[in-house]
Amino acid sequence: MTAKLIEQTHSAYAYPLLIRSLFSSGMARASGHEIVYADRKRMTYREFGDRVGKLASGLAQLGVKPGHTVAVMDWDSHRYLECFFAVPMMGAVLHTVNVRLSEEQILYTINHAEDDVILVNTEFLPALEEIWERVEGHKKLILLNDTSQAPESSLPFETEYEALLADSDPKYLFPELDENTRATTFYTTGTTGLPKGVYFSHRQLVLHTLAMLATLAGTGHGRFNDGDVYMPITPMFHVHAWGMPYAATTLGAKQIYPGRYSPDALLDLIDREKVSFSHCVPTILQMVLASAKAKGVSLAGWKVVIGGAALPQALARQGLEMGIDVFAGYGMSETCPFLTLSRLEPHMENWEIERQIEVRCKTGRPVSLVQIRIVDDAMNDVPHDGESAGEIVVRAPWLTQGYLKDPQNSEKLWAGGWMHTGDIAVIGPDGYVKITDRLKDVIKTGGEWVSSLDLEDLILKHPNVAEVAVIGIPDPKWSERPMAVVVAKPGLRVTESEIKANLREFAAKGLISAYAVPEHILFVDELPKSSVGKIDKKVLREKHLELRLGAAGGSSQMSKELAGGNA
Ligand code: AMP
Repeated sequence: MTAKLIEQTHSAYAYPLLIRSLFSSGMARASGHEIVYADRKRMTYREFGDRVGKLASGLAQLGVKPGHTVAVMDWDSHRYLECFFAVPMMGAVLHTVNVRLSEEQILYTINHAEDDVILVNTEFLPALEEIWERVEGHKKLILLNDTSQAPESSLPFETEYEALLADSDPKYLFPELDENTRATTFYTTGTTGLPKGVYFSHRQLVLHTLAMLATLAGTGHGRFNDGDVYMPITPMFHVHAWGMPYAATTLGAKQIYPGRYSPDALLDLIDREKVSFSHCVPTILQMVLASAKAKGVSLAGWKVVIGGAALPQALARQGLEMGIDVFAGYGMSETCPFLTLSRLEPHMENWEIERQIEVRCKTGRPVSLVQIRIVDDAMNDVPHDGESAGEIVVRAPWLTQGYLKDPQNSEKLWAGGWMHTGDIAVIGPDGYVKITDRLKDVIKTGGEWVSSLDLEDLILKHPNVAEVAVIGIPDPKWSERPMAVVVAKPGLRVTESEIKANLREFAAKGLISAYAVPEHILFVDELPKSSVGKIDKKVLREKHLELRLGAAGGSSQMSKELAGGNA
């Protein structure tokens, strides 16, 4: 006996799961709520709807067709939200370019994704000009300009965004698409080697949105509904700002897009627009809290999901003391992103603060439809005792089905039919997961990845360096910072300032990001090796943990970037 498929009446509509449906739900529900771009633009959902139609008409006039790729290089803006909808709804693919990567990496991602059109904010023109000669194929450029003056640039723009919209028809007829059509793509540097492209379909984004809305539904602790005011503080180029702009738009909720992140401007927006729901990495929350304290601004009632790195207990305590409902969430670029949330169960809400903090700072329990296992090397589940550690492997309807044009790494990612996260965790009898370590050889600082291998390659260019290992060490401000452990060649000398000066030069050439340059260089006689002669970074990390170098450290370049300085 085989299972019976449902009968399909000839005239019945087989409803595909399309981003267009999220959009029309929002348009039908929004009751006068606004979408705001910093202090530059406010609009109703009706105007937003018209602008999405105009953008699609304008892009079509420029030649964009289903299957084309449209890249965006912008800070968080209403324009970006318009692209989140118009581009995939046309059947094209939205490539959200990580503008924090080095110029060389940006070049690689633009060429690898085979972008047809690039929308670029004036702020990134110098970077794009630098690499333009090596951008492959004929790409059309659209300028995103927040000022009234045209920038001086040698780049061949087709038009400017507002001019494109002004001349275009709001009534664009969006095509009926297969729900498995690719909607978005972007690149992760959270693995060793070159950036890897991940991709998501309409169906995946719709299911991710619905699961998030179901998991967050209601009022009170950690909930999100149409009465909330939403502001992302995780960039829109990074995993669709955790997919929350799709959720907020589906609800028709008020949304605030802050542009480039600067703690003071974020604080002003939270205060002025009564922002009630956000998400960010720990570093940003810390900066906003410091700014709020300095200015005496209350953040009471603000709900904040912290992800991208573990939520430190001290930060959670500080947030709770200021009246913020703060808790952890976990996911990755490959997973669209949400996998878990570490919200309190109702009976925990009366617990004293210290006990609550322990739960809020775990990695969390799976959101609806996510299956999580913690497994050993042979893919056997470890006991759920809160002590036995293993790798987190997952299944969910919205995980990237591979890395773009990279079958070998795609197979590795999906070995055994479960997606391998490269994160090590324990799971308790209560079902809460807690990440304890990482398998992947990369460092996450202020929410951005730094490749240990890239740094090691560059440090080895110094003729007197024999061996080097770059590891991540805990840092109270940036979650982690890279540290280089160097062995000099016998009888030869190499100094900390030489290594740093070399790395700064590589950063100036765009080979690495400026925030990748380590503050801490340690010289040793030899590096610990595993039984097969590989440098044992686990031993190195454990050995140097007690140094607690972080307290006075931190990258001033990263600080400048996150605080609105030079990128
Ligand atoms: P990305 O792909 O850049 O979003 O980075 C995803 C990675 O960040 C995960 O695989 C984890 O290593 C780390 N990460 C994200 N959220 C958390 C969390 N709540 N706790 C600890 N690590 C996290």
